[in-house]
Amino acid sequence: MFYIGCHLSASNGYLAMGQEAHSIGANVFQFFTRNPRGGKAKPMNLEDAAALAEFAKQHKFGRLLAHAPYTLNACSSDPKIRDFARMVMADDLDRLSHIPDSMYNFHPGSHVGQGVDVGIEQICDLLNEIVHDDTTVTVLLETMAGKGSEVGSRFEELRRIIDGTEHSDKMGVCLDTCHVNDGGYDIVDHLDDVLAEFDRIIGLDRLKAIHINDSMNPLGAHKDRHEKIGKGYIGLDAFARIINHPTLRDLPFYLETPNDIEGYKEEIALLKSLYQDK
Ligand code: FE
Ligand code: FE
Ligand code: ZN
Repeated sequence: MFYIGCHLSASNGYLAMGQEAHSIGANVFQFFTRNPRGGKAKPMNLEDAAALAEFAKQHKFGRLLAHAPYTLNACSSDPKIRDFARMVMADDLDRLSHIPDSMYNFHPGSHVGQGVDVGIEQICDLLNEIVHDDTTVTVLLETMAGKGSEVGSRFEELRRIIDGTEHSDKMGVCLDTCHVNDGGYDIVDHLDDVLAEFDRIIGLDRLKAIHINDSMNPLGAHKDRHEKIGKGYIGLDAFARIINHPTLRDLPFYLETPNDIEGYKEEIALLKSLYQDK
């Protein structure tokens, strides 16, 4: 089954996102849990969440992915900023428990000069305070481009975060194709090698989701500027190999390309035309 969708706005509620996804040919989607800049979330509408769960089941959707506000920083040098990240993420996990089988993706953080070791320790401390025995949501670390002092642009760093988390059984990884390209992993010409490296260092069983984005910048640029599919340095041929790769083809793919809803509809159709049914 090809699970393909895109990032959608949650402003009209949960069911509305499911319906919008369906209307553009998607069978999965990603959304922000609240204002992406990290403000207050609307109170959870349980009826709306249940309606989405029913709609998603009816239409055989893949696992829905929530994205934490990208302004959170779990490894800021300012304890108030770390506290804020912890509070928001704990609240998000609680809310997502009402969306069956959902996953929660976050940017590990930027260590802002404290060094990667301190950064990883602070990220693990935060996760250990908010992920519990009864947490139902799978928490995903996103592979990062390595812009500034971002933690998580090397597979080794993600491995260390998982290792430092008590409930590591609830942890996974979301691979962003733009970010890994910018981070220096050659998924264009050496996809098999990159996946073998991922497997050796993190384990492919941890890979739960793919952010499918082209990149405005070449391999190793450490920039993080998403481009439309086929219009950047990764290119359409590489995406055809990525979505059909035996170890990736059954994972959910979420577009985060610079598009309006019509553009997403076209990219979804394009990727579907490249997906080889078995
Ligand atoms: Fe992200
Ligand atoms: Fe991403
Ligand atoms: Zn990005």
